[in-house]
Amino acid sequence: MSLRKLAAGNWKMNGRMPQLAEAMALAGAHPSPTVDVLLCPPATLLAPMAQAMLGSAVAVGGQDCHAAVKGAHTGDISAEMLVDAGASYVILGHSERRADHGETSAMVAAKVQAAWAAGLIAVVCVGETETQRDAGETLAVIGAQLAGSLPEGASAQNTVVAYEPVWAIGTGRTPTPEQIAEVHAFLRDKAPDAGIRLLYGGSVNPGNAATIFALANVEGALVGGASLKAEDFGQIIAALQ
Ligand code: PEP
Repeated sequence: MSLRKLAAGNWKMNGRMPQLAEAMALAGAHPSPTVDVLLCPPATLLAPMAQAMLGSAVAVGGQDCHAAVKGAHTGDISAEMLVDAGASYVILGHSERRADHGETSAMVAAKVQAAWAAGLIAVVCVGETETQRDAGETLAVIGAQLAGSLPEGASAQNTVVAYEPVWAIGTGRTPTPEQIAEVHAFLRDKAPDAGIRLLYGGSVNPGNAATIFALANVEGALVGGASLKAEDFGQIIAALQ
């Protein structure tokens, strides 16, 4: 089955109002891409970016949400609030959230439920640390994260899975094509719906994108640093087309 490709940009804690110009340049350069394009800015830029992307082919998403609909959770944002701001996707279980905020797969699963209930598509991240890879635990770790983070009911309509080896994020290091292919074949086998798109993430850039996208079971990328500049992200999108 050939699945529609997705290029997702994770701006992390980067970007202020002037950087909206990069999103607008991207939207202008890709008025109707044949792949889905998503930008996930910091929460402060969600609403203005969504406003700026109205009528364009670029979707906007959050980088996290709370599992609850509302309440006494200072500093948190609910999935419904993301929708209010114009989001249609949300990244959940990113390794930086798992590490910095102690998010377990069970917590991620509760957030995924909340995201679905609000009508968001969840981009659920899984990935091993370097120590786990060296110990030969990669597939076991990823299998446990996937099973623990995806509630019953995950489908092509509500879920995207991103394989992001922790040691490849922001480091300029990428797994070999064989290593990526092995994990993606494993994820394809374990994913509850054959239509769930599988993204690779971790130091994707204009130079390595085509090689990664040529691999079986890779339906796109979750891109951090290289999504901040319209020119770089545009080249990655072009490699997917
Ligand atoms: C990410 O944070 O999701 C990511 C893949 O970052 P980078 O592309 O910068 O490695």
